[in-house]
Amino acid sequence: MQAQKKGVLFVVSGPSGVGKGTINKKLFEEFGDRIAYSVSATTREPREGEENGREYFFISRQEFEKRVANNEFLEHAEYAGNCYGTPRDHVLSLLQRGISVILEIDVQGALQVKARMPESVSVFILPPSFEELEHRLRGRGTETPEKIERRLAAARSEIDMAPAYDYQIVNDDLDAAYARLRGIFIEKTEMANG
Ligand code: 5GP
Repeated sequence: MQAQKKGVLFVVSGPSGVGKGTINKKLFEEFGDRIAYSVSATTREPREGEENGREYFFISRQEFEKRVANNEFLEHAEYAGNCYGTPRDHVLSLLQRGISVILEIDVQGALQVKARMPESVSVFILPPSFEELEHRLRGRGTETPEKIERRLAAARSEIDMAPAYDYQIVNDDLDAAYARLRGIFIEKTEMANG
C-alpha cells in the first residue's frame, strides 16, 4: 500500500512591499495541484481589488477577538495596527490530506508557528536594500503616507529577524528569487515523502 502523502507547512515572511506575494503566486501557479495558500483573517480594511475570502477574510475586531478566545487560530499577531490570524483547522486538514500549505505571515506569527510546529519550513524574503523597499512601497500607491511610514518602521525590525528563519532569499531578481523558493519547495516536499 502506498503511504499517505505528507503535506509540508511553509511559512514565508518578508516586509510589506518585498514581493513575497508575487513569488508565492508563482509557486502556486506551478504546483497548484499539491499546494494551497491559507487565507488569513484580518481586521484591516480591504484594499481596492481585494475580495473577501480570496486575499483575506475581512472581519471586525470583535469577531477577531472571539476567534482568538475560541482558539481558532494557529497563530495570530497585530501588524501596523491591524490583527491577522491563520485559521487552524483549515491548515491542519490540508496537511493531513497531503497538501502543502503556504502561510504568508509576519515575523511574530512565523515564530509562533515554528514553536508549535518545528517541522515547518520558514523562508524570509529580503529586499536588495532598505532604500529599494521604500521605493517599491511608495510606488505601489496602495497606502497613505502615514501607513507607509508604519510599514517601513515595521520592516526594519522584521528584517532584523531574518536570521531566525531556515532560509533567506534576496528578491533582487524575481526569477532568481523564485528559482530558490522552488528549489526549497521541491527538496522539502520530497524529503517529507521519503
Ligand atoms: P498586508 O496588510 O500588507 O496584507 O499584510 C501585512 C502583514 O501581515 C504582512 O507581513 C503579511 O504577511 C502579514 N500577515 C498576513 N496574514 C497574516 C496572518 O494570518 N498572521 C500573521 N501573523 N501575519 C499575517
